[in-house]
Amino acid sequence: MSLSNILQDFPILNQIDKNGKRLCFLDSAATSQKPETVIEAMNHYYRTINANIHRGIYQIAEEATDAYEKSRKKIQKFIHAGSASEIIFTRNTTESINLVANTWGRKNLQKGDLVILSEMEHHANLIPWQILATNQGINLEFIPVLENGLLNLTEYKRLLGLQPKIVCVSGMSNVLGTVPPIKQMAVDAHKAGALFLVDGAQMAPHMKVDVQDIDADFFAFSAHKMLGPTGIGILYGKEALLESMPPFLGGGDMISKVYLRSFTTNDLPYKFEAGTPAIAEAIGFGAAIDYLNQVGMDAISKHEMEITRYAIQKLQKVPGLKIIGPTDGFRGSAVSFTLDYAHPHDVAQILDSEFICVRAGHHCAMPLHTRFSVPATTRASFYLYNTLDEVDRLITGLEKVHHLFG
Ligand code: PMP
Repeated sequence: MSLSNILQDFPILNQIDKNGKRLCFLDSAATSQKPETVIEAMNHYYRTINANIHRGIYQIAEEATDAYEKSRKKIQKFIHAGSASEIIFTRNTTESINLVANTWGRKNLQKGDLVILSEMEHHANLIPWQILATNQGINLEFIPVLENGLLNLTEYKRLLGLQPKIVCVSGMSNVLGTVPPIKQMAVDAHKAGALFLVDGAQMAPHMKVDVQDIDADFFAFSAHKMLGPTGIGILYGKEALLESMPPFLGGGDMISKVYLRSFTTNDLPYKFEAGTPAIAEAIGFGAAIDYLNQVGMDAISKHEMEITRYAIQKLQKVPGLKIIGPTDGFRGSAVSFTLDYAHPHDVAQILDSEFICVRAGHHCAMPLHTRFSVPATTRASFYLYNTLDEVDRLITGLEKVHHLFG
């Protein structure tokens, strides 16, 4: 499959507004668009095999179960996990991290224990640990972010000397586009006796992931940022760890035996999948994985890198524009910036009038914005379906902002 004719696969991206402009979607870091095959896979489930899974003894229930479990295997392969038992379906990255904090964290962390995070974390990888800090008296320390948007790894090494129990960092910042050296960071964390959790919400959609190569103990991500539907995400965990963890939510499916006053848990991965799951969404996620595989993750990374480099080069020429995050080297496709003379909300509104979607605000990373002394930024983020022409449209839109506010 070639990246040049990809647009035709995404119905939403072929919309034309009243001024004859095609939708220019530059907000994939928030959520990605969905190809026809994903929409169709979910339609097919509802139209032909809609039934609950894991308990039906009739044909369509077996087909639904089969489709759901096939998706799990596709996801296992996609991130190169050792076993399908290590792939837990959750609602999203947020729920995956909450699962770890509430099960592994509550069991293994005691008053005074240390968890290392970074200053660039999304609230999803911040608040669950803050709640534990309040409830269990654990300490939190933060790897600082340097002025150029990279993590201060010298400080990371120093923090590891404080004997943390777990290090939890994003594999790619949704604001800065920073891609920390997580493989080396995992080696260092393990040497210090700590576990290593990767918030993969921005990483999994944009580059090849091999959880065994990274040696991640946990890896969390969301389908909706990688061409799949909302309402479904993944927690990968090493089998021995998941086995040792107590269940998260209680109810149907996660049990083996139930008595009036007690229960025994089901095997992995079902132990962590209480209640009727998001069946259509899991199947849609499987179709998204098929699509990403067909295009190829290396081709996607390369395409995004080209667009991002071009965008940074052009953005730097816009008067009064400052990019928050790395401007060279290997980085992700989320590019956040400020303009001296216009608030991000005004910028987003003017761009919207050109049928260009960008995000304005703190992007669920308030402490990071505080670190850079800005209340908000405008963020353009690119994915496999974006083009260089769309970057040019963004720049023309920003010139309009300059004309109006500058
Ligand atoms: N972490 C990062 C780095 C993210 O970008 C996001 C989504 N913006 C999340 C976590 C949370 O993802 P979700 O809302 O799908 O749980």
